[in-house]
Amino acid sequence: MSEQKRILITGAAGFLGSHLCDRFIAEGFHVIAMDNLITGRLKNIEHLFKLENFEFYNCDVSNFIHVPGKLDYILHFASPASPIDYLKIPIQTLKVGSLGIHNCLGLARVKKARVLIASTSEIYGDPLVHPQTEDYWGNVNPIGPRGVYDEAKRFQEAMTMAYHTFHGVETRIVRIFNTYGPRMRLNDGRVLPAFIGQALRGEDLTVFGDGSQTRSFCYVSDLVEGIYRLLMSDYDQPVNIGNPDEISIKDFAEEIIKLTGTNQKVIYKELPTNDPKRRKPDITRAKEILKWSPKVSRSEGLKLTYDYFKTLTPEELREVDHYNFDKYIK
Ligand code: NAD
Ligand code: UDP
Repeated sequence: MSEQKRILITGAAGFLGSHLCDRFIAEGFHVIAMDNLITGRLKNIEHLFKLENFEFYNCDVSNFIHVPGKLDYILHFASPASPIDYLKIPIQTLKVGSLGIHNCLGLARVKKARVLIASTSEIYGDPLVHPQTEDYWGNVNPIGPRGVYDEAKRFQEAMTMAYHTFHGVETRIVRIFNTYGPRMRLNDGRVLPAFIGQALRGEDLTVFGDGSQTRSFCYVSDLVEGIYRLLMSDYDQPVNIGNPDEISIKDFAEEIIKLTGTNQKVIYKELPTNDPKRRKPDITRAKEILKWSPKVSRSEGLKLTYDYFKTLTPEELREVDHYNFDKYIK
C-alpha cells in the first residue's frame, strides 16, 4: 500500500481553505490545517477535528512556521480576501502575501513539497483586456486602497516563480476569480453575502456605483475541482479558474431579490475607489491543460448558498464584526 500523502493548508479555517480540507480528507490525505483565525473561524472545520488524519495549528503564517514530519504538498490560502477585510488590516495582508509565502516556500524547499498558491483575478486590476487571459499583465494601482491585496498577490506570484526557477521547487499558481458558496462570512462585505444578508435581515440591497460593473461567479465545488486538478498536474504556469458567466452587479442584485423573495429594493451607494469595471476569466488554458470547466450554474449555486445562509441563527445574521482585528495591527 502506498504511503499516505501529507498536505499543509494555510488559511484552512476560511471559506475556501475549509472546503479544500474537506476535499483532501475525502481523497485520503493527512491534512495539516494552519490558520490564525483573523478572518476565518473554527466552525468551518470543527467537523474534522475528530478525525485522525486531521490536525490544526493556530499559527500566523507570516511568522516562522514549523511542521514536523514529511510534507508532500502545501496550499497557501492564508490571506484576508474581501475588500473590507484587507482595508481593515492592510499591513497583515501585505505580510501574509510576502513573508507568509516566503515561509511556505522555504518549508517546501526543505521538505521537497509541491506548493500551490492562491492568486487572484485582482492581479489583473481594473483590466484593459477582456476576458482576462493569463498572459495579460494587469492594470493595478499600487498605492490605491486595493493595492495592499493586489500587490501582495503579485509579489507572491513573483516569489513563487523565483523559488521555482532558482531553487527548483515544484510550484503551481491558481488565479481564482470571484468564488461563492456555503461558509462565506455573512459580514465579509463581499457582494453575495452582503446582498443575501441584507435580504434576510429585511434591509435594502446596496449596489455600489450604477451597478454596471460586472463579475463572473464560480461555485466553490467547481473551484476546488480545478485546484485539485492543477495541483496534480505538471503545469507550472498560472491558470485562471473561474466561471465565465458574466453578470452586472445590478442584475445580480435582481437575481438575489428573486431568489430570496424579499420585498426590499435596490439602493445605490458610492462606488469604491479602483473597483474593477469588468471581470471575466478566459478559461481556455484550464480547459486544455486540466480538462476542467465549471459544472454548477449560477442558479443552482445560488440556491445551495442561500440554503446555507438560511441555517444561520438570528445572532449570526446580525453579527457585524466578530473579529478582534486590533490585536493583529502592527
Ligand atoms: P477567508 O477570509 O475566508 O479565508 C482566509 C483565511 O486565511 C482565514 O481563515 C484567515 O483567518 C486566514 N489567515 C489570514 N491571514 C493569516 C495569517 N497571517 N496566518 C494564518 N492564517 C491567516 O477568504 P477566502 O475567500 O477563503 O480566501 C482564501 C484565499 O483564496 C485567499 O488567499 C484569497 O486571496 C484567495 N482568493 C479567494 C477568492 C474568493 O472569491 N473567495 C478569489 C481570489 C482569491
Ligand atoms: N458590491 C456592491 N454592493 C455591496 C458589495 C459589493 O455593489 O454591498 C460590488 C462591488 O463594488 C464590486 C462587486 O460588487 O463591484 C463585487 O464586489 P466584491 O467585494 O464581492 O468582490 P471584488 O470587488 O473583489 O470582485
